[in-house]
Amino acid sequence: MWAVAASTAVSVSTYLIGAYLMYLAWPPLTLCYLAFVLFLEIRLLRGHCVDCAYYGKVCAFGKGVVSAWFFPRGDPARFCQRKISRIDILPDFLVTLVPMATGILLLIWQFDPLILILVVALFLLGFAGTGLVRTRIACRFCRQRELGCPAEQLFGKSRT
Ligand code: SF4
Repeated sequence: MWAVAASTAVSVSTYLIGAYLMYLAWPPLTLCYLAFVLFLEIRLLRGHCVDCAYYGKVCAFGKGVVSAWFFPRGDPARFCQRKISRIDILPDFLVTLVPMATGILLLIWQFDPLILILVVALFLLGFAGTGLVRTRIACRFCRQRELGCPAEQLFGKSRT
């Protein structure tokens, strides 16, 4: 459970800081941002987790269990056959990049130490934090990686 807590803390902190920076820019943007985050989470749960070896089980992100609450089991073979490109994962990076860019624009508009701290925190959580969770907590012990994981293959390629 410490792994699930750590990975969830990184994700939720990223979403909350992102939502707050969007709110500082223009409150309605927060709703758009959170709707986008919800869309990505549902896309993962319904499109990937249903085919994963952790469907109905506790994976490093806890989402195997959540997926089973809402969606029927998929086809495990489909998980390994899927091809993932950088374009496919771009939306996941936008969750961090869009509020970061918004924060930088706010700082150019008027410098505020709190916004600077939030932008730096978002950068660290969104890149270093997510990277650490994946390499040190999730993928390292992941059964699905052993069976075949297109995302791990994509990132594995970028590491070599
Ligand atoms: S390891 Fe990834 S794909 Fe598998 S259930 Fe967990 S979040 Fe979903």
